[in-house]
Amino acid sequence: MTTEQTHTQRLSEIAEKVESGERLSPDDGLFLDEHADVLTLGRLANVVRERKNGNIAWYNTNVHLNPTNVCVYRCTFCAFRSDLKAEKSYVFTDEMIRERVLEAKENGATEIHVVGGLHHLKKFDWYVNVVRVIHETWPQIHIKAWTGVEINWFSHITKKPYDWVLRELIDAGLGSLPGGGAEIFDESVRSQICEHKADAGHWIDIHRTAHQLGLRSNATMLYGHVEQAEHRIDHLCKLRELQDETGGFQTFIPLAFHPENTGLSHLPKPSGQMDLRMIALSRLMLDNFDHIKAYWIMLGEPTAQVALSFGADDLDGTVVHELIYHDAGAKTPEGLTVEQLHRLIREAGRDPVERDTLYRRVMRDGKDWTVEDPVLVG
Ligand code: SF4
Repeated sequence: MTTEQTHTQRLSEIAEKVESGERLSPDDGLFLDEHADVLTLGRLANVVRERKNGNIAWYNTNVHLNPTNVCVYRCTFCAFRSDLKAEKSYVFTDEMIRERVLEAKENGATEIHVVGGLHHLKKFDWYVNVVRVIHETWPQIHIKAWTGVEINWFSHITKKPYDWVLRELIDAGLGSLPGGGAEIFDESVRSQICEHKADAGHWIDIHRTAHQLGLRSNATMLYGHVEQAEHRIDHLCKLRELQDETGGFQTFIPLAFHPENTGLSHLPKPSGQMDLRMIALSRLMLDNFDHIKAYWIMLGEPTAQVALSFGADDLDGTVVHELIYHDAGAKTPEGLTVEQLHRLIREAGRDPVERDTLYRRVMRDGKDWTVEDPVLVG
């Protein structure tokens, strides 16, 4: 048999597994990543996407808050961070946080997404206070705050275990954890892109602990820099294992590396082809995740729209005040209106459904809103 015939046969065996709902092995994933063409990947991922979410494309109405860009770490892929005394450094005051929350309320947002730098001088109380100020200003808004890397830092500066840190934040109003900081789990890659911050074991432990405390969380993977296919598949399989154990992840977000203004600016930006491959591959490997998000801020609206047919069922949200990827050169707008999101989704042949952070359908009456129980499709 020629190599081409062997590949065709292997691909059809994998396609059969996907059609019958059988889990793909790490070897299957590696084969797909290295050899499958993008259209086949997309077609297979779309089978899983429609099985799990029908024709729905989810979005939410949210705002971002990055309370400080000062960070003790120097991840080479990061354009957002600042040194303590650099001109670009900033720290939000309570008043600025309140203003952002009131703006969120005015815009009808259901969620505030909070991540930032690890400030050299701020104690844990400062981070708890950020959550408390948001919660006290508008208790109805869902607070999705602090990545696993930040929780690890809080544990480091307080010398307290993760469950203690998370309970303090829950008491202040924390509703769930975002998925950032996972980057690529493999140590040989991590040592090149984010040497000192929480490693894979700690990131996974934090999310396990959060799930045990009843918090839902998301997961991410930063692709398109120095990693290889084997690292991506290893990353996805580690997430799949934890999800088997806890069931606490909601959505997976493949994040495209943006090189501008980073320590890796000599690398090219991932192509649209790679973006679609990563969406599809994630959908195929993460059979126990309900949702795959095409984060339009990173992908750009055109690719995010096409991704809705390549495995993604969620476009994220209206996202006002995005800084992290715009500092790294993202040319997308900082926010989209609900009407613009609806148009993107409808043009892709999908049905837009607004969700809250926990994937409950949002019912609106002007700026007021309520939520329905989860919409079960699959
Ligand atoms: S990615 Fe996060 S932890 Fe790393 S330098 Fe940037 S802000 Fe700091």
